[in-house]
Amino acid sequence: MSKLGKAYVALSFFKKLKIDYKFDGGLFIEFPCFHCGNKLTMEAVTTLWVCSECANKGNIITLHQFLENQPGKQKNIQKQKIYNPRREFTEITNKLRRSATKYEDESFLTLLKKIETLIEFHEKKPS
Ligand SMILES: [Zn+2]
Repeated sequence: MSKLGKAYVALSFFKKLKIDYKFDGGLFIEFPCFHCGNKLTMEAVTTLWVCSECANKGNIITLHQFLENQPGKQKNIQKQKIYNPRREFTEITNKLRRSATKYEDESFLTLLKKIETLIEFHEKKPS
């Protein structure tokens, strides 16, 4: 199985169980620790993870076993969210657009434009 193929096994696990995750498209998957909710980084290919907060560790099989032994905890784990800048930006954009319509106030769109400019500024690599 290809490296990406192995990563997809882990990704489909999170997707199927509706657990929030963030994949960088390569080596790492972020997800909330099943024990304490701390943000974890799983190595996509080996599925190994270690929690720096509660010191639990394992792989995708231990995560599967955890849920099998304590199915009641799944709902709490589903509520934990991983910070995802792209999703945050989409939420902010949508909210500002809705507010502009709702209050008939163009200044919300001006604010959105300012935020976009600010992001572009910070994304520029120093020359
Ligand atoms: Zn933990």
